[in-house]
Amino acid sequence: MKDEKKPEWYDPGKADSFSSTVKPGVSGNGHGIEQTAKAGRFVKKTAARKIDLDALAAEIKEGNRTALAKGITLIESNADHDFQHTQALLQLLLPRSGNSVRIGITGVPGAGKSTFIESFGSYLCELGHKVAVLAVDPTSSLTGGSILGDKTRMEKLARNPRAFIRPSPSGGKLGGVHRKTRETMLVCEAAGFDVILVETVGVGQSEVIVRDMVDFFMLLVLTGAGDELQGMKKGIMELADSVIVNKADGPNEQAARKTKEEYNRILHFLQPATRGWQTTALTSSALHDKGIREIWEMISNFSSLTKESGIFEERRRVQTKEWLNDLIIDQLQINFFHHPTIKSLLPKIENEVISGNRPVASGVDELFKAFFEAKK
Ligand code: GDP
Repeated sequence: MKDEKKPEWYDPGKADSFSSTVKPGVSGNGHGIEQTAKAGRFVKKTAARKIDLDALAAEIKEGNRTALAKGITLIESNADHDFQHTQALLQLLLPRSGNSVRIGITGVPGAGKSTFIESFGSYLCELGHKVAVLAVDPTSSLTGGSILGDKTRMEKLARNPRAFIRPSPSGGKLGGVHRKTRETMLVCEAAGFDVILVETVGVGQSEVIVRDMVDFFMLLVLTGAGDELQGMKKGIMELADSVIVNKADGPNEQAARKTKEEYNRILHFLQPATRGWQTTALTSSALHDKGIREIWEMISNFSSLTKESGIFEERRRVQTKEWLNDLIIDQLQINFFHHPTIKSLLPKIENEVISGNRPVASGVDELFKAFFEAKK
């Protein structure tokens, strides 16, 4: 092909024996590959696909799982045109969302989260609930691997027709994992799921992110926590509406009960996560399905109490407002840092500030003046 050329790094001395060539690029918007006359073979039709959003929304509302998965795939896409579709789809589904209890579950790896969700989720399905399990895994976007992504987890629940399990989305634009999980939650609710379990690992900021999107938040811990208990960050316990001491079985059962009492003593002195609700410790054996009923009773009790007092709805309103705020801040950051004027000016200002030749606020002032000037 005459448009082909040698790559820039080839050795001219070996021109003829060099087999690599560079083909001309394919024009496109960066999200999918658009058709050009020369690259017709590589056309990826999905970029230009038309989605019947009304039909998709109707199927999701009927509880159609394929449609639900399709909706979530749209949410998880990082492409601009999918973003617009997603927002239009959510607009159609919003009136049907919200009718669920949203439960966050955290704990260190090995605490028994997936075993617990398998047991708890199956129990709720037996009671007639529809259970969606979502995950917020901060490690998945950092390393490409995932603590929560193991395919063999929750096998029994995954086969239950009343359950729906979705692994953690990866980051991407505007709000990243946070936005995608919240939107997925809304779509699941519109599909009739009335219990949403959001699992996360006790790493970094993920607990705070999940706390901000659920009604009830539980912390799974292990026994033998005497010293650990003292050292455990007060902050994490103050996020929780319940501490569950898991693996309360066999020779560990007594110790688990003792640990539970210790937690209850300490929790009494801490700020509760939810106004009007005393954070309580309970025990469970996820492996032997023990303590599961009691935990659901506690959550049901929490729901009726907070709904009666108006705290349930108030929290959801505050969460939505904070979500709006978060997305505005994200959007501002993206717009600012990706703007060509800022990209070219920032290194100079950084140098001036780092070398101590300029006050920080004055550098910020110049950047914003340049930004707004360029936006005019
Ligand atoms: P995760 O990393 O928090 O999701 O923890 P897993 O659910 O993968 O559990 C870690 C290990 O603890 C597995 O070997 C489970 O079988 C075990 N495990 C979980 N729950 C219990 C329990 O209630 N009792 C006992 N004895 N083992 C449990």
